[in-house]
Amino acid sequence: MILEARDITRRFGGFTAVDKVSVSLGKQEILGIAGTNGAGKSTLFAAIAGQQGSDGGSIMFDGHDITKLPPYKRAHLGLVRTFQIPREFKSLTVHENLLAAAPNLRGERLLSSFFRTSSLVRNEHELSEKADKILEFLNLKRVRDTMAGGLSGGQKKLVELGRVLMLDPKCILLDEPFAGVNPVLIDELCARVRELHAQGISFIVIEHHLQALQALAGRMIVMDRGAILAEGDPRAVMNDPRVQEAYMGG
Ligand code: ADP
Ligand code: MG
Repeated sequence: MILEARDITRRFGGFTAVDKVSVSLGKQEILGIAGTNGAGKSTLFAAIAGQQGSDGGSIMFDGHDITKLPPYKRAHLGLVRTFQIPREFKSLTVHENLLAAAPNLRGERLLSSFFRTSSLVRNEHELSEKADKILEFLNLKRVRDTMAGGLSGGQKKLVELGRVLMLDPKCILLDEPFAGVNPVLIDELCARVRELHAQGISFIVIEHHLQALQALAGRMIVMDRGAILAEGDPRAVMNDPRVQEAYMGG
């Protein structure tokens, strides 16, 4: 297992958004999480990636207890996430958006204006090349120098993926990567996720687009009202009467 989140609980006031949810993820697995709006999926991601604390539970990642670590330390260990609503820097170019995601670059930039040593310059140059390689991989070279704010929804999702790839992740949590993305770009995104998966990266993918999720995920969880409703083989899970009821009856 690369990730084991146990009994994660998250309350907002008197409301329990996530209620003792346990999720584990194997090395090189793609796990899908579906569920109705408000089921607690994004809140679970925030607890796992560390943007929000949890009110109970423990999280192990790659042999480390990360339960109390801030998000940047989790990212440093290789655990990263994207957001349901892309958080690009609108007035930075696509290439600059990737550079801004790289750890410590801003600090090093500041420092390098005073002590411009060759190693720092090389580091900056290497990061720039790394960003270009990622843009090539994501087919974003054409928009390299375009302001990210002007991109289509699908391109923004690709930039989000590019930003987390700058961190050399072992595990990527994708929050609704296909929402607001046209079908051609959905296929493109799926293909990139499969390639990254083949390179050894594990994924958890939250998604409403069930067809795309079923095609991508080897295992699936359906959440409803803060808890896990069903878990297992994607087809079996989608045919589970409780899942059908939650989707149709909701
Ligand atoms: P999902 O991603 O499955 O649609 P969320 O995790 O975003 O669901 O939200 C789960 C529940 O928690 C919802 O009822 C939502 O309104 C509530 N919630 C999420 N974030 C907050 C917050 N910061 N403050 C209060 N309630 C929140
Ligand atoms: Mg959500």
